[in-house]
Amino acid sequence: MLAYVLEGRHAALSAHRPRPVMDPAGFVRVRTRIAGICNTDLELIRGYMGFSGVLGHEFVGEALDGALAGRRVVGGINFGCDNCERCDAGDSRHCATRKVLGILGADGVIAEEFLIPERNLVEVPDTVTDVQAVFAEPLAAACEIIEQLGGTTRHRRTLVLGDGKLGLLIAQVLAVHGAEVDLVGHHLDELEWIEDARVNRLARTLPEKATAAYDLVVEATGSASGLAEALRATEPRGTLVLKSTVAGLHEIDLAPIVINEITVLGSRCGRMKSAVELLERTSIMTEPLIDSRRELSEAESAFARAQEKGARKVLLVNP
Ligand SMILES: [Zn+2]
Ligand SMILES: [Zn+2]
Repeated sequence: MLAYVLEGRHAALSAHRPRPVMDPAGFVRVRTRIAGICNTDLELIRGYMGFSGVLGHEFVGEALDGALAGRRVVGGINFGCDNCERCDAGDSRHCATRKVLGILGADGVIAEEFLIPERNLVEVPDTVTDVQAVFAEPLAAACEIIEQLGGTTRHRRTLVLGDGKLGLLIAQVLAVHGAEVDLVGHHLDELEWIEDARVNRLARTLPEKATAAYDLVVEATGSASGLAEALRATEPRGTLVLKSTVAGLHEIDLAPIVINEITVLGSRCGRMKSAVELLERTSIMTEPLIDSRRELSEAESAFARAQEKGARKVLLVNP
């Protein structure tokens, strides 16, 4: 079958990847309908996590086996061991020996078919389209912030730094949950639509007046310099949420965290169920986040496009 495979630091489309066979206990096969290219995939190609195998973790597909066979599905990307305290508590996201779809020890979704634990699947309701559902994984990562903050961001003066794909989802999710959201990013003039989601386009770079002005700041720039700006914007005793995973080491002055008693929250994957419910119940906009759609056989050019500056979500369709 067709699959986009990373070996070392070389990623390429293969036409001869063996089809997965339903073998590991509890796993089912899923046929990819649409896969999204994520910045994490680009980081993996640069050596982040040392991953080898089929790339891709953002998908909407059709289950081929199990109770949801024939249904449209999305799925959680962490495969827990099912045999430790964290897995028992229902949170495989932090299982110490987990595998992660297309990121760590498990082949991903940029292929005709892939394997995933059946319990990770969430059915997509009929009212949610494929091009909405393919955003469920990054949307779940945005929902995770709400969960970490205790379920609500009502009336919080909030700044989202970064108007990339994840930043735009985060800004919308926080606004849906009642926050007053300002957005800083380099593409604001192309983002008129985000005002309809009650997100205020503040400026291209953090203005002087924004210093210590926010009690909640989300760093989603994907760049190493974002953290220093985010710290500057956070008011004393405020909360700073870190969403960027940038490969490499950063030098940063941590004194403001201590002096201003800032709570720093690392934030990664969320629950797919929350994301699907949000897509069903609210008007989170995903269409403007799409850069282009290509067929799986055009994965090479799709990845080339995804690496260009300013590219939004590139989708791969398995026809
Ligand atoms: Zn991703
Ligand atoms: Zn476990």
